[in-house]
Amino acid sequence: MRDELLELTSALKNQIISEKESRSGLYSKLYIKGNSGALTSAPVDTAVNNSVAHVPSITLEDIEKELGDCKRCKLHSERHHIVFGEGSSTSDLVLVGEAPGRDEDMRGKPFVGRAGQLLTDIIKAMGLERKDVYICNILKCRPPKNRNPEPDEIAACEPFLIKQLDVIQPRVICAMGKFAAQTLLKTGTAISMLRGRFHSYHGIKLMPTYHPAYLLRNPGAKKQVWQDVQVIMEELKQASEISI
Ligand code: URA
Repeated sequence: MRDELLELTSALKNQIISEKESRSGLYSKLYIKGNSGALTSAPVDTAVNNSVAHVPSITLEDIEKELGDCKRCKLHSERHHIVFGEGSSTSDLVLVGEAPGRDEDMRGKPFVGRAGQLLTDIIKAMGLERKDVYICNILKCRPPKNRNPEPDEIAACEPFLIKQLDVIQPRVICAMGKFAAQTLLKTGTAISMLRGRFHSYHGIKLMPTYHPAYLLRNPGAKKQVWQDVQVIMEELKQASEISI
């Protein structure tokens, strides 16, 4: 009887360990070190959102420390502050924008300008507060005059975003705007075609939607963003019911 119990305990332990491993390790699945030591893309599988508790081996603070006073791309020369990201490290929802603008660059925080105010309103309309979610960008430094992110800048910055997502392991990622959606999904498809339904980001549900700055210029698109947000809310509600 004692032996049977020990065997059962050991089998359960192994099962928990292997489920944990399949859920975490997004970074190592995405980036493996080649012989040169350079980071290269690797194929990924999908199962991430299962019910096993996620125990990250590193923290967001570790990643920020590793980023340091980053000079990995040309954007460092004109930036005032690195905008790492902020919010809950255990949130079910991560919102990803494009890159810091002037206000964000001055304050070192994401989405604190006009577009940020609108994003804060959207988060409140979801029944949440900014501290309940995690907010970050594809790029951590402001491109001069808010020009579009360039491929070498995305390539230098993306490994840190991947690590952040790996630590947080959210239920849902909301990719706001063309750059966030196309970068994360590795596609050139227009945001108008991508939005409105979940895609898979290595097993995490990813909802592309319009960027809040686009909404400031095109208020008519708020209706579609609200539709996208409601799909996210339904998913988060279901996830919280499962974990009760
Ligand atoms: N636009 C973005 O994409 N990110 C910010 O942080 C601010 C504005």
